[in-house]
Amino acid sequence: MKKVKVNEEACIGCGVCMSMAGEIFGSNSAGLSTPKVDKVSDDNKEAIEAMENCPTGAIILEEVAEDCDCGECHCEHCECKHEEE
Ligand code: SF4
Repeated sequence: MKKVKVNEEACIGCGVCMSMAGEIFGSNSAGLSTPKVDKVSDDNKEAIEAMENCPTGAIILEEVAEDCDCGECHCEHCECKHEEE
């Protein structure tokens, strides 16, 4: 799974990602892109193409464990699971 992130400092609000992947990216009140979903599958074409076509590289698809609740860790066995064990 990939966590969907947009670097708001890099986004220029061009709308490319929203038109290419409207179910994944929306516009916030400042006209900048914001993720509509938390995670996408590793092979989600729309998300990958939007990331590749973003003119400023603002879109980040970050690897996370499939069962990760926090969405912040990068390991296979995420911190939130460790705490439950
Ligand atoms: S394509 Fe990139 S710069 Fe354009 S709105 Fe989306 S995140 Fe922002």
